[in-house]
Amino acid sequence: MRNQIKQFINGEWVESASGETLDVINPATGEVFGKIAKGNAEDVNRAVESAYAVYLEFRQTPVEERRAMLDRIVDEYTKRKDDLIETMTDELGAPLGLSEKTHYQAGINHFTAARDALDTFEFEERRGDDLIMKEAVGVSGLITPWNFPTNQTSLKLAAAFAAGSPVVLKPSEETPFAAIILAEIFEAAGVPKGVFNLVNGDGEGVGEPLSSHPKVRMMSFTGSGPTGTKIMRNASEDFKKVSLELGGKSPLIILDDVDVDEAAEVAVQKVVRNSGQVCTAGTRTLIPASMKAEFLEAAKKKMEAVKVGEPRAEGVEVGPLVSSKQFDTVQSYIEKGREEGATLYHGGVGLPDGLDKGFYVRPTIFSDVQNDMVIAQEEIFGPVMSVITYNDIDEALKIANDTKYGLAGYVYGNDQDTLQYVARRIEAGTIEINAAKGRTDLPFGGYKQSGLGREWGDYGIEEFLEVKSIKGYFK
Ligand code: NAD
Repeated sequence: MRNQIKQFINGEWVESASGETLDVINPATGEVFGKIAKGNAEDVNRAVESAYAVYLEFRQTPVEERRAMLDRIVDEYTKRKDDLIETMTDELGAPLGLSEKTHYQAGINHFTAARDALDTFEFEERRGDDLIMKEAVGVSGLITPWNFPTNQTSLKLAAAFAAGSPVVLKPSEETPFAAIILAEIFEAAGVPKGVFNLVNGDGEGVGEPLSSHPKVRMMSFTGSGPTGTKIMRNASEDFKKVSLELGGKSPLIILDDVDVDEAAEVAVQKVVRNSGQVCTAGTRTLIPASMKAEFLEAAKKKMEAVKVGEPRAEGVEVGPLVSSKQFDTVQSYIEKGREEGATLYHGGVGLPDGLDKGFYVRPTIFSDVQNDMVIAQEEIFGPVMSVITYNDIDEALKIANDTKYGLAGYVYGNDQDTLQYVARRIEAGTIEINAAKGRTDLPFGGYKQSGLGREWGDYGIEEFLEVKSIKGYFK
């Protein structure tokens, strides 16, 4: 069992106000494997006050000091490698390899990118006799989901620390232990008291009072649209800054000049990674109508080769979904796809063969999907591919952009002009050509209902800053 029923406030582990706890479930077994504090408004208030007490001082720290702090964080983070990997495998069900290469690595990437951004970041600009300066916004509330426990937290924390804004973090109650390790890492790295506060608990008990607190000047949230709306509504009462990373239903456009086998591999990886619990998952696979039969056969073979199973078992690529709630949601979307007339080409409802407990689902392919079907419009957050055919590239773009979301878009092909034509026209914040990895300091965020603001690297730091003009500063 893993237990941490205290909150981390003002540099110390303290009793939570209610003394109540929440169980944390291991999704691979469905059993309780730990307990955390169930925080309330009193905990939130103490945490916000502790951040508020230091915000003026932290804002004034020289950039080199914050850079050195981020450096020490990277060092301490690296020392906790094994624990972080094991923890995310326990709480999220991430296979060990994924836990290391994606989840653990994400923290290093974000703290390093924010540190490096400080080398060139312009906090001040002279215009004639006047000065424009950017300074930390102040106490910031961070609320994160469960799908990438160290990624979602680290990218917000790295940006806030680089900017000089103290924070109160409320991680997901479903995957809280990676954030608890982060608190220990920050303690070891000498993050000043009050700069980092962690309040565990659920959305109603902690998230609501945090996003409503008058001393919080900025809310940075990643998660579902309905929760984003609540946070924005709360924040609007006193006009806090808001940054939101919400859902997606991203298109992967496969061009007609590709090797079908390679394209099928890319398409399958886009939906099965992290068991499909990825906001940028390329779940609408758009293929030329002429390629349909060949592509479906290749994609099915690739999907059959993906090993689903216990996250510590050899060769497993896909673990369980995070919770029984997510399991039920994905099952009902698969049912829905059949009801609305899509062809269930591979997979389906129920546990995969050989598994009798845990929240595992069968990687699934639907063909004959129309873009107005529910399975093509709503975020499923499971390994479910919707294959849609198109006749020419402008039709593909029309389908790709016919969504309320705009988080990511993918294009796979050989003709450079067409790749660039498509990449420029998909309405989304991140476009990937031919599965390019891209740099870790590129801005990340959504168009339309996928969110507001940008995270990662220097763009992420901007979110935690205010801009001030001082007239006559150099006179
Ligand atoms: P959620 O929005 O309910 O939860 C995300 C975070 O917000 C959690 O920490 C939660 O405790 C907190 N929260 C919940 N209610 C709140 C409230 N009223 N005020 C403040 N904070 C609150 O999302 P979820 O339950 O984790 O997942 C549901 C769906 O959200 C998924 O199926 C998926 O579609 C989407 N999602 C998107 C992302 C993303 O990266 N864009 C990540 C996870 C989930």
